[in-house]
Amino acid sequence: MLTVDVLVIGGGCAGLRAAAEAAGLGARVLLLNKGRIGRTGCSAFLDHRIEYSLMNIPDQAPDSPERYLEDLLACGAGRNDPAVVEAFVEGIMEEREFLRRLGMRFREEGGRPRRLQLPGHSCARSLVCEEGFGRKLLARLADLAWARGTVLREGMVALDLLRAGGRAAGALAAHGRTGALTAVQAGAVVLAAGGLGNAFPLTTNPPDIAGDGVALACRAGAALRDMGFVQCYPLTTAPTRGTYLISGILLAGRVLNRLGEGFAFDLPAGLAPHAARKARLLALCHWMATEVREGRAFEDRCLEWDGTAIPRETYETQMPATLAALRRAGADLLRDRIRIAPGAHQMLGGLRVNAHGATSLPGLFAAGEDLGGLHGADRLSGTGILEGLVFGRRAARAAASFAAAAGPPPPGDVAVEPLTAGSGARLPSLGEAKALEARIVGAMDPLLVRKDPRDIRRALQELAEIRAAAEGVPFDPARPRPSLRMRRVSNLALTASLVAAAMAEPVGALVGERAEVTP
Ligand SMILES: Cc1cc2nc3c(=O)[nH]c(=O)nc-3n(C[C@H](O)[C@H](O)[C@H](O)COP(=O)(O)OP(=O)(O)OC[C@H]3O[C@@H](n4cnc5c(N)ncnc54)[C@H](O)[C@@H]3O)c2cc1C
Repeated sequence: MLTVDVLVIGGGCAGLRAAAEAAGLGARVLLLNKGRIGRTGCSAFLDHRIEYSLMNIPDQAPDSPERYLEDLLACGAGRNDPAVVEAFVEGIMEEREFLRRLGMRFREEGGRPRRLQLPGHSCARSLVCEEGFGRKLLARLADLAWARGTVLREGMVALDLLRAGGRAAGALAAHGRTGALTAVQAGAVVLAAGGLGNAFPLTTNPPDIAGDGVALACRAGAALRDMGFVQCYPLTTAPTRGTYLISGILLAGRVLNRLGEGFAFDLPAGLAPHAARKARLLALCHWMATEVREGRAFEDRCLEWDGTAIPRETYETQMPATLAALRRAGADLLRDRIRIAPGAHQMLGGLRVNAHGATSLPGLFAAGEDLGGLHGADRLSGTGILEGLVFGRRAARAAASFAAAAGPPPPGDVAVEPLTAGSGARLPSLGEAKALEARIVGAMDPLLVRKDPRDIRRALQELAEIRAAAEGVPFDPARPRPSLRMRRVSNLALTASLVAAAMAEPVGALVGERAEVTP
């Protein structure tokens, strides 16, 4: 069994920031990442199928950290944890300086960083990141973590957390290619395995993001919050799948159903323009979901987006890369209509944490998209990278000091659940795992926007069956691919059922939440 002070699970911006910080404090750090660092996770896909990455820096009048905090709470409909929001806002300038030292750049306009005002933000605070920001950031964070002594293990999948004496004590992991199992004993664990986009059929998230963090934490007994909130956004379905049109352009086009009827939005009285844009995006998702449900969508459950009246200069100045990418895929936005549907973007809930990323399970810390409390019911764009960096650093500091004070758990106490196949056990099958995963996304599809009690009950029933099927198949190290695929199904089904169950909670007419039943 390997022993370290701090084990980090996940090699996105949150995990790598945590590893670099904990190693800088002198802790022995091991980081496990499912795939290749810099090629997996949302952090690596920041600049994919989207025009640019954005990062909110509230450092220029009339903006201020206080004003940003108010916007975050307003967008989250008061469902955020104020202590987490405060810690986030407080930590931004330190991370801004950290990024400057790391050599990360922002695009400029007239010699100054270009700033945009996005829906839901009361002022222009979103800096436009340099091209390829996500991968550059990950490469530099990995270099720093490695230079400070972190052991970075790629292609290692954490299967479960280990517990000892009521605390987190490490993790059991499998090598993705060979299936070899490794138990890592740790003084503290930072969970930064990202969100759950692939619980839904259409998402911006890369394939490796499948609810692992929440599933591992839930099985270990850590408390979660706000799991019913998942950010949705209209994404393309054809000719590309999952492309994110920037909101200014998306809202400037017409969205039509199969009968040629268009989306219209009656602006609620008294809404400020920035809040109105956010409300309009949400109303658009609701309208699309209604058209699908009532049979007025196109055959592939999507609507048409017509941006042919938008001037060429607008595309060329605001969305040139997306315009070119769609053209390469066969659609010229100046001439052609494309197809769109509501897709899953970010997980808004996650592990219940304090301002230092400490979860309810001693020794377990969370960072990045795995933590809950920052966003509440809805999310402002441009928060994700900094959520990873700010809480990566905070969680690392807290984890390193926990590990130093508590020390590693004694080996005998570490509970390793037997996972390997006994005689007569069902063998994992790739085909079965894929079929089960298709059932998960099918069950979750109707829930992303509309939280209809009947759909929720149906999804919970379906997910319970899928979990029973997947959890009945033990991990067989001799068959790594189907075993890991089945493990992915278990995690995805567990996380999806937590989402569906939370959607069923009576929460009133909050943004994005409409359900009023308990299943
Ligand atoms: C297309 C897109 C555009 C975005 N644009 C912006 C933007 O402009 N500005 C912004 O601030 N945010 C943006 N975001 C959000 C932002 O990318 C995320 O919030 C942030 O990157 C999350 O970082 P993370 O480290 O928490 O998770 P991730 O970057 O998703 O990393 C999680 C890592 O954990 C690994 N992992 C998962 N399970 C396991 C396991 N069992 N064992 C080991 N490793 C595991 C994964 O492989 C992955 O490498 C965007 C997201 C997407 C998808």
